[in-house]
Amino acid sequence: MSLTALADLVSLCKRRGFIYPGSAIYGGYKGFWDYGPLGVALKRNLKDAWWQTMVTDRDDVVGLDAAIIMNPEVWRASGHLDSFTDPLVECKHCHQRFRADEPTQLAKHEATHDQPPAWTEPKKFNLLTEVLLGATEPKSKAYLRGEITQGVFVNFAHVVASTRIKIPFGIAQIGKAFRNEITPGNFTFRSLEFEQMELEYFVPPDDSAAPKIFTQLQAQRLDWYVKLGLQASHLRFREHQADERAHYARLATDIEYHTSFGWKECEGIHHRGDWDLSHHHLTYHDPETNATYTPYVLETSVGVDRAALFFLLDAYELTADRVILKLHPRLAPYQVAVFPLLKNKPELVKTARQVKDRLKANFRTAWDDRGNIGKRYYAQDEIGTLYGITIDFTTLQDETVTVRHRDTTAQVRVSLAKLVDYLNHQFKA
Ligand SMILES: [Zn+2]
Repeated sequence: MSLTALADLVSLCKRRGFIYPGSAIYGGYKGFWDYGPLGVALKRNLKDAWWQTMVTDRDDVVGLDAAIIMNPEVWRASGHLDSFTDPLVECKHCHQRFRADEPTQLAKHEATHDQPPAWTEPKKFNLLTEVLLGATEPKSKAYLRGEITQGVFVNFAHVVASTRIKIPFGIAQIGKAFRNEITPGNFTFRSLEFEQMELEYFVPPDDSAAPKIFTQLQAQRLDWYVKLGLQASHLRFREHQADERAHYARLATDIEYHTSFGWKECEGIHHRGDWDLSHHHLTYHDPETNATYTPYVLETSVGVDRAALFFLLDAYELTADRVILKLHPRLAPYQVAVFPLLKNKPELVKTARQVKDRLKANFRTAWDDRGNIGKRYYAQDEIGTLYGITIDFTTLQDETVTVRHRDTTAQVRVSLAKLVDYLNHQFKA
């Protein structure tokens, strides 16, 4: 199957209410996006699936939700004020700014001028977003967090003391982060405001054991995407070379997804060593051995918006007569949709409402009574709803309904009494 063109997905996302351009009625705002009714549902399902795997299903991981704005000293200690930078160059002809490490973008821009290219020397551009706080002038400068990670480290001692959890253990968090990107682009792939889901896993500072746990984490994380329906052939690991690793990383591997605009990072897995905890002057005391040491940190960091984008791209399929979003049942905004065959027949509508009420206790259930049944099926196919359930005149006689499958369009009659079991069985298969 060919790779989904980004433009096709952008159009579907806007038309059906997954993702809208930010501030659109004021001309938009570059690098910001808003999630519509279906997009917020997809993103929530994605975050729930991650939390289930990374926190709820494990005994060795606890959750956290730290503040977005922290004491600026956090960013000084973590190295972000000095090192959280991209190389920036400016076009001497028109003063537009670009990342020096993106040759394709530079070449594209050079082609817009008749004169020979002229760039300034690259300079370090800090990605932290500044905010001004306080009621007195001058206001004091703080930062929107550039990664959610630091909130975990500054709470490390609190978590250990209040939960008595023992190493090895992890702290997981989901939340927004902000980067003053020079060149946002590729839809939601690179934006200035985005959401992350991260696990920071604390292990003893053992240079033979830590890389092994790092390798296990890689495999577990790749498997998570495949289980949720991403095609394995569209995923790969890419190891960072020493010169491209972030300032804190000893080892770094990306999980990349194959898009129509290239292989792109979806998740970063980093061996942060003792960089963060030692810079925050934090240690761990092992109550059994009485040893005190600075743990190593192994991190997995998912871009929620990127992951949502890649799941959408992977699910998108255009056939001769319809668009199908083949989302996994765990992720689809709706799992089933209920239709009364005709909306002007009260007995059909009443029965259909009863069916919907019964289903909604078990599944994310949509209701649609507009237009003809064929159009309703197609409308649900392109938002990923797995089953369409039609209540017709036969239902009133024998208490069966038509169940139609999104991907195959196959239709079967199922008795109302067995409907929940039938659907549960399908979703497990
Ligand atoms: Zn220029």
